[in-house]
Amino acid sequence: MEPSQTAGPPEKTAPVPLLDLSRQLRPLRGDILAAIARVCDSGQFCLGPEVQRLEENIARYCGAEYAVGCASGSDALLLALMACDVGPGDEVILPSFTFFATASAVTRLGARPVFGDIDPVSFNLQPAEVERLIGPATKAVVPVHLFGQCAQMDTIGRLAEGAGVAVIEDAAQALGAEFHGRRAGGLGGAGCFSFYPSKNLGGAGDGGMVTTSDPEWADRLTLLRTHGMRPRYFHPVVGINSRLDAFQAAVLNVKLPHLERWAAMRRANARRYAEMFTDGRLDRVLGLPAELPGRRHVWNQYVIRVPDGRRDGLKAFLAEARIGSEIYYPLGLHQQECFRHLGYATGDLPETERAAAEVLALPIFAELTAEEQQRVVRRIEAFFHGSSGPHRLAGPNFLRRPRAGRPST
Ligand SMILES: *Cc1c(COP(=O)(O)O)cnc(C)c1O
Repeated sequence: MEPSQTAGPPEKTAPVPLLDLSRQLRPLRGDILAAIARVCDSGQFCLGPEVQRLEENIARYCGAEYAVGCASGSDALLLALMACDVGPGDEVILPSFTFFATASAVTRLGARPVFGDIDPVSFNLQPAEVERLIGPATKAVVPVHLFGQCAQMDTIGRLAEGAGVAVIEDAAQALGAEFHGRRAGGLGGAGCFSFYPSKNLGGAGDGGMVTTSDPEWADRLTLLRTHGMRPRYFHPVVGINSRLDAFQAAVLNVKLPHLERWAAMRRANARRYAEMFTDGRLDRVLGLPAELPGRRHVWNQYVIRVPDGRRDGLKAFLAEARIGSEIYYPLGLHQQECFRHLGYATGDLPETERAAAEVLALPIFAELTAEEQQRVVRRIEAFFHGSSGPHRLAGPNFLRRPRAGRPST
């Protein structure tokens, strides 16, 4: 007997991946291969015209004057900190609840990361924490636009400016996000982006970029990414080797014109989750993510809170039904083993620690279907309310809504 005949209807057993890049790549495959072939034929593999075109496109998209391509989002952060001369004896304020690279860029330069706590709704650095932590040794503040929503950039910007401190946006998850109509990457002294495949604009490997509107920063970033070399084999400063591959830039130039459509699809998916969860009365047991006033959230991740120690149980329950989910992030950076010497203790940043215990990211990628979302929500409802049946849940009204740009498979 076919396994599918015993396992029930296929719509209950088909997996829902956390991220399915193939759905996005399939319709662009021809264009991407042609772009790669062009780079091959040009023989120009490091920097060059494809990279320059991407830099111009990203700068324009972010509302910044300049953009400087580099090898990764991690290097973008490193280069931005190097460009404002962060080094031993300096402190850099950043949230503890972020991806590791935000902090390692600081420690690599011999400076000290000073971790602030997050706002429980946005998961972003609290401006009050910047106020509390800023001091004479502070050289920069690095707010992170976590999960695709901008941090409170006006207040943070004012605090930094008052102290004569640079603001470097970690916008790795937030290309296209807006704060009161202005785009991430155009809100601070510099904005750092990643083109890692799981970001909203992902390449076919690693890549990164720094945006800025300050010509001196742009010049320094350009110098630093090529060993601080100018002219050739003369080095006024010590830089690093961090170039953006022409292959990556070519792929990204093909994908960038679709980014706004993908953002709209992610936003529609987030709205649909909110409706489905509310209809299933799951908003009473879960913390649902929110788009704050004045923000445009681009939903790199859709992160719910599962309180009362039930998060890991729910994750396993979803995995049993082959529904992908992930924990971003299970431990605050102030509690990481490698930062033990910084002297933080459990309880120091309570909102970060609570988030680390409660968060769960659900599938939100642009091509996710309403049917798949319904399967995710039903499974979560089964976990909390028992199998109360599909009648309680978001019904066919969600499935009738036409969706733009869905692959015709
Ligand atoms: C992905 C990410 C980075 C690092 O980007 P890479 O390209 O992977 O080096 C930095 N910060 C945040 C918040 C990220 O999500």
